[in-house]
Amino acid sequence: MILTVTLNPSIDVSYPLEHLKIDTVNRVKNVRKTAGGKGLNVSRVIHMLDHDLTATGFIGGYFGKWLENQLDRDGIAHDFLPIDAETRSSIAMLHDDGKQTEILEAGPTITPEDAQKFLDHFDKLLDQADLLTISGSMPQGLPEDYYTQMIAHAGAKNVKVLLDTSGATLKSALEAPVKPLLIKPNEEELAGLLNRKVDKTDYAALKQDLQDPIFDGVDWIVVSLGSAGAFVKHQDKFYHAAIPKIQVVNPVGSGDSTLAGLAMGIHDGKSDEDIMKTAMTTGMLNTMEAETGFINPAKFDTYFAKVTIENY
Ligand code: ATP
Repeated sequence: MILTVTLNPSIDVSYPLEHLKIDTVNRVKNVRKTAGGKGLNVSRVIHMLDHDLTATGFIGGYFGKWLENQLDRDGIAHDFLPIDAETRSSIAMLHDDGKQTEILEAGPTITPEDAQKFLDHFDKLLDQADLLTISGSMPQGLPEDYYTQMIAHAGAKNVKVLLDTSGATLKSALEAPVKPLLIKPNEEELAGLLNRKVDKTDYAALKQDLQDPIFDGVDWIVVSLGSAGAFVKHQDKFYHAAIPKIQVVNPVGSGDSTLAGLAMGIHDGKSDEDIMKTAMTTGMLNTMEAETGFINPAKFDTYFAKVTIENY
């Protein structure tokens, strides 16, 4: 099975407002609350395409219980480590013709005892997994190299790791002896890693960028390019995955859906071409739905057939 990690899950609350009024009351009728955090978006998409998975991370309090109930309702298997603090909420206000204002709680601070307990819990879950996805930023209290430690645990059990994070945590993972199998930096994250400007429209330059020694030992680098698809390095091969023009409803979570597609393709032992096509399709299908980390599986084959892969 695929193990998905969401260390800092959240109840994602969406408030659609016609107009956001400041310093007064805003009333809202159509509130939507979903089990969120990037890893849970990944989980939902994997589940919607009928792949076995278990979602894990830290969970706590009444909000945590609510979140677990949502996962049960959706039929998503989970095995979180309970902690003595409330799971967070994240609020997104959609207002004034496409504007989005977000209020994101930092979430609980993890104690050193819980950090150690989770690694033990994680080790047991790894025994049943063949592929692991790690997504998002870490909760407060964990050391910068916590994902790196998790990757080492996975490596010791021959579990492949797909890592979608940024900043110091990503850098730490790339500097460690045991590397993730795949990373999925966007333009900004790539520029941060290389310490220079990156032009995502210049594929020849991207090809150079991805050969920087900082990426040595990482099999797959997938640079997602929004409506332009993705530029991909797999070992010594380079590809551009091109996608058709589509009607975008809500692009939030498309990166997570892309990671879900990569996880399923790699887990199923597909060819490079089909792994990339699966990932582009799940990314596109997410943008076509109002809900975050959500796809319509009935559209999968149609859009899969429209993705083209060029060697670069
Ligand atoms: P996120 O902010 O969700 O983490 P990201 O920057 O990692 O996103 P994007 O490059 O925006 O990811 O999108 C991931 C994938 O989703 C793209 O490779 C593509 O398949 C699809 N996608 C995103 N935006 C669009 C769009 N406007 N039109 C078509 N497909 C899109």
